[in-house]
Amino acid sequence: MNILVINAGSSSLKYQLIEVETHEVLAKGICERVGSAQSFHKHGIDENERVIDAAMADHTEAMALVLEALTSGPTKVIDSLEEIDAIGHRIVQGGKYFPRSVLIDDEVIQKIDELAELAPLHNKAALMGIEACQTKLPGKPMVAVFDTSFFQTMPPKAYMYPVPYELYEKYDIRKYGAHGTSHRYIAERAAAFMDEPLGDLKLITCHLGNGCSMSAIDHGVAVDTSMGLTPLDGLMMGTRCGAIDPAIVPFLMEHEDLTPAEVNDLMNKKSGLLGISGISNDLRSVREASEAGDERAQLAYDMYSNSVKKYIGQYIAVMGGVDAVVLTAGVGENCEKMRRMIFSGLQPLGMVLDLEKNKARGGEREISTDDSPVRILVIPTNEEFMIARDTFYILQERQLAEELDLSTRTNLT
Ligand code: ADP
Repeated sequence: MNILVINAGSSSLKYQLIEVETHEVLAKGICERVGSAQSFHKHGIDENERVIDAAMADHTEAMALVLEALTSGPTKVIDSLEEIDAIGHRIVQGGKYFPRSVLIDDEVIQKIDELAELAPLHNKAALMGIEACQTKLPGKPMVAVFDTSFFQTMPPKAYMYPVPYELYEKYDIRKYGAHGTSHRYIAERAAAFMDEPLGDLKLITCHLGNGCSMSAIDHGVAVDTSMGLTPLDGLMMGTRCGAIDPAIVPFLMEHEDLTPAEVNDLMNKKSGLLGISGISNDLRSVREASEAGDERAQLAYDMYSNSVKKYIGQYIAVMGGVDAVVLTAGVGENCEKMRRMIFSGLQPLGMVLDLEKNKARGGEREISTDDSPVRILVIPTNEEFMIARDTFYILQERQLAEELDLSTRTNLT
């Protein structure tokens, strides 16, 4: 079954066409700067990737280019759109309404729109992706896969904020988390790697990319996570500050004469690695500068690793222990030095990094010593595959429900 996975950003449209039963990625690409004069389309896998300059005024035009690339010319992988069985959409915010992925209908679309207040850029963009598919692939079943669903199992003591309870009742202000699809994937893969049931394990999962989040997964159930009402909370990130003293916000508004939107911008786009180093949000550039003696770059590096360390400690306390720490995404998968810094000094907590294994690259791997009481794993994330798989399962469920309904009716007549 071929599933088209769509991840729509405010000015981008990322996609993969996945044959879900064989796990094969048939095609992938991204339309960038959608709506601007500099828009372009990158299509293809690894060395076959090609960049096509193409004008796309909106997501629907971008979608038309994607479908054309899939079905014609040198990039063709399917004969016709009939060969796309369904579409899976990544949606950032599902609020309290979506503890799992769902088939998209008008009511679901309305709820995603309602929730846009909690993730303004992301949910509105996802809706543009959905609309583009409705226009270009009318009648195809579509499934929404939410970044927040995996964390709907958190207990109230983890998801509530200690602000007046009425605000929770009035605005649903609480922790929702994000990156849930990635955490769910690496937790499942870690259990398979360890050859143990996920339900027997206490895991700390770390998604360390441009956006960073960690979660505590106790016997297969997410019990805490670092991102909050929005993806701004928690760890220090590329450009986001993560958790800071909330009193800094009114202080800055007053002393720097900032509006709420401006202070939000400062915390989301000008902070984190970029804000401290003054050099870049990209850890590679910060690392190079720190190695060349730049003190602020070194400080940014130290703060980032310290931020991860602190959450490891918290989550060991939350779960009363841990069997494995699992790392993923750009930094988690690739940065040997950052991993070394994160785990330095954590031997008393049972985490012993193997410095040689830590240098290996690529694939699912263990980087702790053979006798480390807590295992440390690197698992490359694959959110697209999870979206395709959820879409597949939901279609199977629907088909089963239809068959059951049919057989019940047949029995009744
Ligand atoms: P996104 O959240 O945008 O998907 P990624 O998961 O691609 O982000 O991660 C981007 C981050 O990963 C950047 O900070 C980048 O510097 C870092 N990164 C990627 N490769 C390496 C590497 N080899 N060494 C250090 N950092 C790396």
